[in-house]
Amino acid sequence: MAASEIAREVRDGTRRAQDVAAAFLSRIAEVDERVGAFIEVDSDDAMRAAEQIDAARARGDELGPLAGVPVAVKDVFARRGKLATCASRILEGFRAPYTATAVARLERAGAVMLGRTNMDEFAMGSSTEHSAYGVTRNPFDLSRTPGGSSGGSAAAVAARMAPLALGSDTGGSVRQPAALCGVPGLKPTYGRVSRHGLIAFASSLDHVAPFGRTVEDLATALAVMAGLDPLDSTSLAAAVPDYLPTTSDSVEGLRIGVPAEYFDQDLHPEVTRATREAIATLESLGARVVDIELPHTRFAIPAYYLIANSEASSNLARYDGVEFGARRSGGADLGSMYEDTRTAGFGDEVKLRILLGTFCLCSGYYDDYYLAATRVRTLIRRDFERAFEGCDVIATPTTPTPAFSLGEKTDDPLQMYLCDVLTTPANLAGIPGISIPSGVSQDGMPIGLQLLGPVLGEQALFRAAGAYQRATQHHLLEPAL
Ligand code: GLN
Repeated sequence: MAASEIAREVRDGTRRAQDVAAAFLSRIAEVDERVGAFIEVDSDDAMRAAEQIDAARARGDELGPLAGVPVAVKDVFARRGKLATCASRILEGFRAPYTATAVARLERAGAVMLGRTNMDEFAMGSSTEHSAYGVTRNPFDLSRTPGGSSGGSAAAVAARMAPLALGSDTGGSVRQPAALCGVPGLKPTYGRVSRHGLIAFASSLDHVAPFGRTVEDLATALAVMAGLDPLDSTSLAAAVPDYLPTTSDSVEGLRIGVPAEYFDQDLHPEVTRATREAIATLESLGARVVDIELPHTRFAIPAYYLIANSEASSNLARYDGVEFGARRSGGADLGSMYEDTRTAGFGDEVKLRILLGTFCLCSGYYDDYYLAATRVRTLIRRDFERAFEGCDVIATPTTPTPAFSLGEKTDDPLQMYLCDVLTTPANLAGIPGISIPSGVSQDGMPIGLQLLGPVLGEQALFRAAGAYQRATQHHLLEPAL
């Protein structure tokens, strides 16, 4: 069941929140040993929260739009009193002192938190293989990756272990796993959802982003989470529209921009085919297709990795074994305590990024690397602004290929980074993007269609995605498991 159906039945009393929670917990018990989506399942807590929803209903209280809806949460979000590790050894045993705004707003709307999902350490990766807690597998083929870094949350929704899940998208970490796992995933406009309590990777690129079974559920989740938060100075004050109705609007007259640059990449032929078919479907529903240009696309990957690593090297400095981080020390002085703590606590990919980021920020290199990257970022943002003068929504593939095999790219960071070639531009520009299922490859692996909109243009995305979903029903595809 989709989140909206669950909430409706819980509200009108045809289903108890406790039965819903119990059903999802038993599904997790049945399949997660094979998938590995969760780092921790918090059954007691989930059952208690569900009980409270049922009690509230019995009292006649007004229930929220996500009443009784179980949600899986990527282990990058703080929840007061709960463990939060970012799948890193350095945060072993760390308990959050407060709750992330996005999580608190979901709970206030009636959501029931199921537990913490696996991810690439500190959200650095595209395959959920860089985790201190083992890999997560793609529910459609257990020998392949679910994508990353929010692979646990994507796999949980794909394997029907949760109807809704939270992830974070810094360079594609929600849209890419959404595409590879055959579920819808949304990265809102930068600042639309507060980042308070989302443990920082690259602050100017990080976004709170949901996965759902349907486009409608993404619209509901966004409406619940969005809006100004005094605890995040980058959160936007713009009013939060009622997103849900736009998912049933027609695309008659909607202008869909198709950028040639996104099809010049090394695309798998079946990804090209599925995306062209999707665009044709939108056209047959009344949308108008226009060719657009995004000439700086090819600089997105280098700009993204320079900026993301620079910000990461700064953000991750706090894990020093003093204020944050599990302290390890054999040495006698402060310097060796830092060194021992960080050597033991961080995995190889995180270390690589801290080294690269620190290098880019060094005086002497700063102008050539970091500053140059921020200028390229401006060019990419302007490309989009210009493109949106002539179209309402941009349609592209989400990923160059369907899910690859586990282990295929772990020895070659550059190949792993190229997974993000189609998703990072939206993070650099801060514009919203959604990935929705657009069919399967010959061997049955899901493919995703990415739709991009202008700043605060989520409604146009929901309109196009909703119409496409109604026409194709690709989102109903279920893994055999
Ligand atoms: N794969 C990208 C990276 O490794 C994006 C990660 C993300 O969005 N968190 O940086």
